[in-house]
Order: sequence, then structure tokens, then C-alpha cells
Amino acid sequence: MGCPECKRKVGQERQGLFRCDFCNKSFSDSEVRITYTITAKFADSSDTAYVSLIGESGDQVVGVKASDFRNLREVQMASPDQLRELMNQPSYSYFTMIVRAKLDDYQGNNGGGDELKFRYQAVRIAPLDFKEDNEMLLKRLQMY
Ligand SMILES: [Zn+2]
Repeated sequence: MGCPECKRKVGQERQGLFRCDFCNKSFSDSEVRITYTITAKFADSSDTAYVSLIGESGDQVVGVKASDFRNLREVQMASPDQLRELMNQPSYSYFTMIVRAKLDDYQGNNGGGDELKFRYQAVRIAPLDFKEDNEMLLKRLQMY
């Protein structure tokens, strides 16, 4: 559940009412943004990274809007098997995404010497377009 104004996570104040501490406002059930909070693990031979897919990024990957998913689960009472099948649909599909890296808040109490921690969030995501992707790669190669 996200704040409709600043998109931050809201907490439940009471049944059907949610609060954004940042905006200092309360929102009803129909006002809050329904969003997936997906953490995806990305890996290659050198390292792994966890990328959050929030809001429209989650909708894009799952292919079903978070609000529709919630409706299926809570109003239409879809079975866990049906929901699982839905979530498995995007398996083996390809996406191009732009990821923003943000330096995690430094805690300062870890004795120093620790490596810097980054948080990664997908800011734009689209199904992979081989033509567009290759053109982009060619353009980048021409830079050298
Ligand atoms: Zn807010």
C-alpha cells in the first residue's frame, strides 16, 4: 500500500484507514495506491544484486495490475493455485529495465571498513525489444 501523494509506504491506522507519516495524512482504502513490492535477485558471474520493483514496475513484470491482483484475491477469492499460476506467467520473459542505484543510509556503527551498500530500484521497465536493444548497443560501441 502506498501513499497517493508521495508514493511512500503507508501504515494501517485502523480498518480501512491508512496513514502516511511523511505527508502526515490519512487515506481511505479506495485512495491508497495498491502496489506490488517485489524484490528480484539479479546475478551474473561477477556478483548479485537485489532490485526492488515497486508500483508500475511490478505491474509491468507481473502483467496484472496490483489492484486487480488484490481484487482477485480478496473479492473474487481466487485460490492460492490460481494466484500462483498468475505470478508464474512472466517466467522466462525478457525485459529491459533502467535501474537506479542509491547509497544506503550509512549506519556508522559497524566498526568501519565495511563495503558500501547500495539499494537498487527499477525506475523504468519494458518488454525486451531486440531491435531497439541492439541499436542502443551499437550506439554505445561507437563511443569507443
Ligand atoms: Zn505521503
